[in-house]
Amino acid sequence: MDNKRINTICVHGVRDNNNITGAITVPVYQSATFTHPGVGQSTGYDYSRLQNPTREALEKTVALLEGGTDAMAFSSGMAAMAVLCELFSPGDHIIATSDLYGGSVRLFNHVVKKNSISVDYLDTGDIESLRRHINLNTKAIFVETPSNPMMQLTDIRAVSAACREKNILLIVDNTFLTPVYQKPLELGADIVLHSGTKYLGGHNDTLAGFLVTGNAELSEKLRFLYKTIGACLAPWDCFLILRGIKTLAIRMERITENAGHIAEWLGRHKKVKSVHYAGKGGMISFEVENSDIVTNILRGVRTILYAESLGGVESLITYPILQTHADVPEEVREVLGINDRLLRLSVGIEDVYDLIDDLEAALE
Ligand SMILES: *Cc1c(COP(=O)(O)O)cnc(C)c1O
Repeated sequence: MDNKRINTICVHGVRDNNNITGAITVPVYQSATFTHPGVGQSTGYDYSRLQNPTREALEKTVALLEGGTDAMAFSSGMAAMAVLCELFSPGDHIIATSDLYGGSVRLFNHVVKKNSISVDYLDTGDIESLRRHINLNTKAIFVETPSNPMMQLTDIRAVSAACREKNILLIVDNTFLTPVYQKPLELGADIVLHSGTKYLGGHNDTLAGFLVTGNAELSEKLRFLYKTIGACLAPWDCFLILRGIKTLAIRMERITENAGHIAEWLGRHKKVKSVHYAGKGGMISFEVENSDIVTNILRGVRTILYAESLGGVESLITYPILQTHADVPEEVREVLGINDRLLRLSVGIEDVYDLIDDLEAALE
C-alpha cells in the first residue's frame, strides 16, 4: 500500500484489520468497550477512548496520506489544537504565522497564554525575521500556509531548517492544501494539524481534527495526551470522514480547476480591487471597493452559500471580519488586510459557470 499513489490511497485507505466478512467499507464499530479474551490479554482494543477499529482505519489512512507513522483523530480541529498545546509548559515560547485561522488565535491568546506560555505572531514567510525572533525559550513554530485568509505562503523547508538548527518543533496546519498538494512532514515538519471538518471530510456535515507525526517520541507523548484528555472522534464520524476521503483527490482536482477560473474572473472585475489565491486548492480571498458591495454580495448569492467553514463540495462565502477572524484584535486585522471589504470564498465542485453567474449577479 505504501507505494501507491494518492488517488488509490484515498479510495482504498488502510484496510480494517478485523475484516473477516469481506466488507468493502470499514464498518462502524459502535462499541465503547471491548471484552478481554483472557486475564491480561487484549484484542488490541480495550476502550474506545484509547482505540476503536473504525477510528484506527481512519487514522492509518490519514497517516499514510500525510507520509507519517501515526495520526490521531479528534472530535474537531480545535480539539486537536488544544491537545497539541499541552506539549508546552509555563515559560515556553511559540512563534505562529500572523495570518492564522481565528480559532487558533483565540486558543493561543485566551487559553494558552494564561498558562504562561507566550505566543508571538510573525510573517513566517520571512525567514530572517523568524530566525531573529527565536529565543532560548522558543519551543515551536506554528505555520499555516497558505495563510488564512490572505493566502501568504511560507516555505516549510526553509522554516524546518531554522527549526532543526535550534532544536524546536515545526507544526504545520495543512487544512487548506491537504496532502493532495502539500505534505509538510516530507518537507521537514514534525507535526501536521488538520481540521478534518474541511477538505478531508469534504461534505460540510462532520466535525473532525487530526494530528499526524512521523516521530515515535512525539507520537508517544501525543497518544498519552489523546487518551488522557479524551477529545476523540466517535466511530460514526470516523466512518463519514473515511467516506469523504475516498473522493479527496478528485474533489481537490475539480476544486482547483474551478478556483483557478474564478480567481481569474474576479481579477478582471471592475469592482474587485485585489484577489488572493495560492494557485492550488479552493480558497480565494478578494477585496471589493467598499463594504456596501460586500453586503450586496452576501445578500445576493444564491448558489454560493453565505456561511462559515470551507472545504466542502458546496461553495461557501465568508466575511472574515465578522466570522472566522472576529477574535483577531482589530489593530492586527488592519495590518493584515482583514478589513470590512474582504471576502473569503471556498470554491466547491459545482459547475464553474454557475458559480461565476452567481457572483456576477451578486456583484451587479
Ligand atoms: C476550521 C479550521 C480549524 C479548526 O477546525 P474545527 O474543525 O473547526 O475545529 C483550524 N485550522 C484551520 C485552517 C481551519 O480552517
